[in-house]
Amino acid sequence: MTIRKIATIGHPVLRERSRELTREELASADTQRFIDDLIETMRDANGAGLAAPQVYEPVRIVAVEVKKNPRYPYKPDIPLTVLVNPVLEPLTEEKFDNYEGCLSVPNLRGVVARFTEVRLRAWDREGREVDQVVKGLSAGTFQHECDHLDGMIFVDRVADTRTLTTWGDFERYHMAAFVERAKALVARYGG
Ligand code: ZN
Repeated sequence: MTIRKIATIGHPVLRERSRELTREELASADTQRFIDDLIETMRDANGAGLAAPQVYEPVRIVAVEVKKNPRYPYKPDIPLTVLVNPVLEPLTEEKFDNYEGCLSVPNLRGVVARFTEVRLRAWDREGREVDQVVKGLSAGTFQHECDHLDGMIFVDRVADTRTLTTWGDFERYHMAAFVERAKALVARYGG
């Protein structure tokens, strides 16, 4: 396994629409190795998720995993999930304000409105059908990662740019209030 370099905002690969994979491509040794690298790179960087274009491969694959993440101590755990060609469908009009950051946007966070409940349809890395409903903070994580496949970065969705903050100032000035909101979401959705 190889830890890959992460593309940062400004690199054109983050602004492309990534392409779908065929089942044959997914089954190939190259793609399976790539998925191992994607997971390893996400874990190494303490990311809650990582999308293939963030490591310079414009294909529709995302990995998500949250396990007592030091970058996001308030996030509920999400088991390792690899989604191939994901299609995300909001199940409600209701949104919540999520404080987001991104490995491709060093040292910046901002508030993004995310749907509280989404349905995810995709393949897993073996090509099996995935059809799951994700709620609360975890739903925000999947929306963030799937946005990358369409060339979208969280800063594009920050409606109030006055919420933008460095990580240090997030911890100093914004984290306590956000953790309270996050706890209410976790209490309601368990995730
Ligand atoms: Zn991101």
